[in-house]
Amino acid sequence: MRICIIEDEPALREQLAAALRRAGHTVDLAADGTEGLYALTEYPADLAIVDLGLPGLTGLEVIRRVRADGRRLPILILTARDRWQDKVAGLDAGADDYLTKPFQFEELLARVQALIRRAAGYADPVLRAGPIALDTRSQSVSVDGRAVELTSFEYRLLEYLMLRAGQVVSKSELTDKLYEHDSERDSNTIEVFVGRLRRKLDPDDRFRPIETLRGRGYRLQPEAPAADPARA
Ligand code: CA
Repeated sequence: MRICIIEDEPALREQLAAALRRAGHTVDLAADGTEGLYALTEYPADLAIVDLGLPGLTGLEVIRRVRADGRRLPILILTARDRWQDKVAGLDAGADDYLTKPFQFEELLARVQALIRRAAGYADPVLRAGPIALDTRSQSVSVDGRAVELTSFEYRLLEYLMLRAGQVVSKSELTDKLYEHDSERDSNTIEVFVGRLRRKLDPDDRFRPIETLRGRGYRLQPEAPAADPARA
């Protein structure tokens, strides 16, 4: 998933970025509110982490403007001050959750995963589509209970498609979400990765979990057809 971090403390910003990248996310970084609002407008983030105490445009103002634009992405606020008023103001402005500094990165990652899942309509940390199960906690994938080894990029690709199961996802959307730098973007490589993912998930071409819609993109089947329809 693509996550925008708006935090003015350089050390914390870099630590957050490193932790989120290790967890398989793509990150955009902003050091103040104005930059943050720009990044959120320019790049299609799936979630924003917003420090409330920012120079220039405040975190609250960033959140209000994002919501005024009709953007519904989950927003997690960070606050240095353990004052309930700040949390209430942040939630009232449109944030979905908060963390008080200092916090454990494990807690931040768990909240980020939960927010992303819930925004996609899943309550369970294990995403399922037919025989495919993707555990967002351990970042492991299985098909009919058999473990499937995926690279970090393949995992991110599958997670994205599963969070949007049943919807058409274009190649350009996938390149926007999965690549951090413009220079890496190449929609032809997405085709290669989708091909590999298909072979790993469905080596015998049994249930064809990922459909190609010519000129439009890909769609992951929310419910794969039963292997033997006669017994269903
Ligand atoms: Ca700050």
